[in-house]
Amino acid sequence: MDVTQLAEQVIAGNRRALARAITLVESARDDHREQAIALMEEVGKSGRQALRLGLSGTPGVGKSTFIESFGMMLIREGLNVAVLAVDPSSSRSGGSILGDKTRMEMLSRERAAFIRPSPSQSELGGVARRTREAVALCEAAGYDLILIETVGVGQSETVVAEMSDLFLLLLAPAGGDELQGVKRGIMEMADLILVNKADGDLKAAAQRTCADYAGALRLIRKRPQDPMEFPKAMTVSAIEEHGLEAAWAEMNTLIDWRRENGFFDARRAEQAEYWFGQEIRHGLLRQLEREPLKSMIAGLAGKVAGGEITPSHAAADVLKALREGYGPSGP
Ligand code: GDP
Repeated sequence: MDVTQLAEQVIAGNRRALARAITLVESARDDHREQAIALMEEVGKSGRQALRLGLSGTPGVGKSTFIESFGMMLIREGLNVAVLAVDPSSSRSGGSILGDKTRMEMLSRERAAFIRPSPSQSELGGVARRTREAVALCEAAGYDLILIETVGVGQSETVVAEMSDLFLLLLAPAGGDELQGVKRGIMEMADLILVNKADGDLKAAAQRTCADYAGALRLIRKRPQDPMEFPKAMTVSAIEEHGLEAAWAEMNTLIDWRRENGFFDARRAEQAEYWFGQEIRHGLLRQLEREPLKSMIAGLAGKVAGGEITPSHAAADVLKALREGYGPSGP
């Protein structure tokens, strides 16, 4: 494969080339990985910067409905929109399908939209890297806004927040007045909390939920990268398309403020460092899952279980082998 040519096509905005490029970065094959690294370096030369918007919410809160309405609104404003997903459960049965085109019927028919479902891999580290690279590819292809969707379970919010300029938390109106068991850590990541379904019978409940969250957000430690009134909670109705423009205006206010005060670039720099660290960890873990270490570990595990060797001693042996390039024969 001619990686330079593929990069040129991606930068020229060729959708098929973009899809092929994403397939390449999703591949687990070693030779593909080398090509993908070269590709990412080439596309990085485009110097383009999109707004990366992370969106999290549990199944049923209205993520796909929101992305459809919000995406269509942005397209009407003349923007190009890419939708990607981080779905750690996608390869398992019963996992929700994110970034699925059938869930965003109108958007998927738009020339100005590009939708790509989550790579089917259960391991979050792998999905994370592939999505992060897909984000950079969409950015090089000239998309103005990249929406990265995830379900509100486990670690996937952290992954998405670490590749987004803004992180949105989508919630549904709560029945009671308790805060839906949203973990504090997730709330702390949010730049904007959107309480969806603020329409019809649910409107009053949505407003109550929104007030509860606004109160909770005021108790959260102030972050230096936020102007006084952020993070905020607002109500929206994805179905009735209410509040979407107001939410978009808030996002722009926050982003403009961060750009002017250096926090936008600082966050991207921190994220680059974060992903550097994650890539190393991920690579190390993969080495442990490969031969010859895999067999060595399996063998030692049996001995540890049988009490022949202590866990610490066995682990030290594995790490020594890793350090020394797996012994005299090398990797
Ligand atoms: P997702 O699982 O988070 O992607 O949620 P969906 O977008 O599939 O929506 C789940 C359900 O909530 C569907 O039945 C939607 O029609 C409904 N829904 C989504 N947005 C709204 C909204 O703004 N108002 C109301 N009343 N229902 C909504």
